[in-house]
Order: sequence, then structure tokens, then C-alpha cells
Amino acid sequence: MELATGRKMEEIFHLADRVNRISVSQTMVVLQEAERLKAQGVDVADFGPGEPDFPTPEHIKRAAIKALEENRTKYTSVFGIAPLRQAICDWHAAQLGSSYQPAECVVNTGGKHAIFNTVCALVNSGDEVIIGAPYWVSYPDIIKYAGGKPVVVPTHAEDEFILRAAEVEKAITPRTRMVMVNSPNNPTGAVIPPDEFAKILEVCKRRHVWLLSDECYSHFTYGDAKPFSIASVPGAKEHTIIAGSFSKTFAMTGWRMGYVLAPKPLVDAVAKLQSQSTSNPNSITQYAALAAMRGSMDTVATMLAEYARRRESILAGLRAIPGITCATPRGAFYVFPNVSAHFNKQMPDDVGVAKQLLEREHVAVVPGEPFGAPGHIRISYATSMERIQEGLSRMRRFFGSAA
Ligand code: PLP
Repeated sequence: MELATGRKMEEIFHLADRVNRISVSQTMVVLQEAERLKAQGVDVADFGPGEPDFPTPEHIKRAAIKALEENRTKYTSVFGIAPLRQAICDWHAAQLGSSYQPAECVVNTGGKHAIFNTVCALVNSGDEVIIGAPYWVSYPDIIKYAGGKPVVVPTHAEDEFILRAAEVEKAITPRTRMVMVNSPNNPTGAVIPPDEFAKILEVCKRRHVWLLSDECYSHFTYGDAKPFSIASVPGAKEHTIIAGSFSKTFAMTGWRMGYVLAPKPLVDAVAKLQSQSTSNPNSITQYAALAAMRGSMDTVATMLAEYARRRESILAGLRAIPGITCATPRGAFYVFPNVSAHFNKQMPDDVGVAKQLLEREHVAVVPGEPFGAPGHIRISYATSMERIQEGLSRMRRFFGSAA
């Protein structure tokens, strides 16, 4: 497009390489279409959202209101307020068996921010970062933004998508800087058994690479799987970075609150980055987070019990549909079935399945391709049992006729 000055639009909007290296989340495409349909009054069975359908617990909301009334509306330390850093260390110790000091804790504007700043603080141009596939969609782009190279290690449905230490080790090269692990996993719900996780840590120690553990879904585990932090393993701390989030555990996605637990020099580097970019996380949110850390965990247990019920229901419903196979998710609030048996001319891949499902049955799911797992779809059960039953009946009809 030509402008009045005679210059072309593209000349002015010559964006920086660091922005051109990354892409807008592809998960959004189907979800935006679902939003459009909903706005038109269409009854969409929405399995898209990666966020709890529960409200933030009352005691947390009340703490925010109190903070506002007490005018806690000023800048805080870039690291976060001192009582919150202490409370996060205490909570993590009590819940997950670690032993961090407040100097090893920095508070961020969400778990994504925690991961982003950590990667920016450690990864140089050309450095490799190992991630397991299926991966959370943001990992490759965060790594690329920092100038690094994502190195993808596949996991397998037959092995419940568990990331294996031996596979991680095979992918390590002299350029490897970090291994990024997410357990419970988005999108598969996979939980790495503690002994396998400890083996991954051993590999990282032996090969002198950082282990970044994304604990976003730590408290949503089912059956024998229990909340676990690699930071609880003796000797882990000096190689380990914990990225934590309040979003899912306390149903606080919109509040934007996360943290990094790591050796002090790294925590200081993350704070330095924040000091020149976002500054402190929202002050009111910090007081709400303090109430979450110091308050009862009963609301988390209530949410977990409801997720557990929904998980049973959706797994049984999906497995009853011919041609759909689904590994058992041990955590998070997603199921990740393989739908490739239903591919045909009209829908040759998972993106096609997601589009057709939305178009024909008004069921919103996320295709597996952006998670590095073509052939699958991600179904979030952070929605009511009634919507789950409705969605399942539509999927039965859809796959019944598409087969
Ligand atoms: N890590 C994983 C695996 C996630 O799924 C998410 C959110 O969906 C996050 C981190 C970041 O969450 P937030 O930035 O809301 O704390």
C-alpha cells in the first residue's frame, strides 16, 4: 500500500527480526471462530479454553478488595513484595517439599512471563533448548524469540506421552542450554513419574544443562499421581528452575501471577529484565496471591474433585466412539485423543477435523498440530458436566457419520 509520502507501508512497518521469528498462537484460529459463533447466539459446546471454569476463591478476592481499600496501589519491589516471596517459598516447601529462601524467588506477571524471562535471561543466539512433544504452544516461540533453537523430543501415546530421560539425553549437544519440562502436561495431561523425572535431572546435571520445570498444573493430578516438584529431590536446586503459576491452581488466569524459584543469580537476572520492562507485577494481584499462598487449599481440592469426575466421563465417552483412541491423562484438565482414523478427503488432518466439528456440530476443540502432535485434538474438560455430555453426544454423531 502506497502512503501519501510516497513510501510503502511495508517500508515503515519493517518489523524487528525478533518479532518476525515468532508466530501468533495457532490455537486461537478455531477458538476465535467459536467466539464469533457464540456472539451470534449459536449454542457452542466449547472444549477450547485452557482455563478453569471456576471463579477465583472468595478469600483471594476479598484480599484484593482489602488491598485496594488500603491503597496498596503503588509500585512494589520489582521482585514482588517481601511477604509474598516468603509465602511462595513456604507454600512450595509445604506442598511440594522444596527448600527455597525468598532471595531465590521472583514474582512475575503470570507463568508465561516467568518462562519468557527465564529463557531470555539464559538463552543466547544459537543455543538449543530441548522440549518434549506434544508441547505447550508457547515454548517454541519463546525459545525462538530469545534467539534459541527448539529441539523437539517426541513422546508417544502408547507410553502415555511420558518424556523419557534416555530420549532427552540423546538430544543433548554441546549447544544445549536447557531442558524444558511440563508435568502435568498441556496438552496431553501426561505426568512424568517422579523416578523418571529424577533421571532427567541426573542427565541435566551430568551434561551441565539447566532443567526448567513448568509446574503450572502441579495440583491437578489423578489416581496414583500426586503433586510433585523436582525441586524436592536432594541436590536438585543448583540445576533447576521452577516456573510456577497461580492461574490454574487458584482459578486466577486473568489476574496474571506467576513466580520463578531458582538460584539467586538467575532470580536477580530475571528481576533485572523486569526492571527494564514490566517492573513489578500488579500490586493488588500480589496481595491476592499472598492470600492464596497463606489460605486454605480446600477450594483447590473441590476443583480437583470436580475435574476428576469430568475426566472419567469424558474418557469413557470418547473411548466409546469407534476409531478414537485416547491415552489416559494423569493430570491437568485435558484429554488428547487421536482422531486420525477419521481423516478423509473433506478433513485430511486434525485442523480439518477441528474446523468441521465446529462447522457441523458447533463443538470447539483445538487441533493437535500447533502442539507438535498432528493427528490429535485437544479437549479441555474445564467446562460443566452438562456441556461435556452435550459435546460428547455431538461428537458421537459427528464421528459416527464421518467414519
Ligand atoms: N505453562 C503451561 C503448560 C500452560 O498451559 C500455561 C497456560 O495455559 C502457562 C504455563 C502459563 O499460564 P499463565 O501465564 O496464565 O500463568
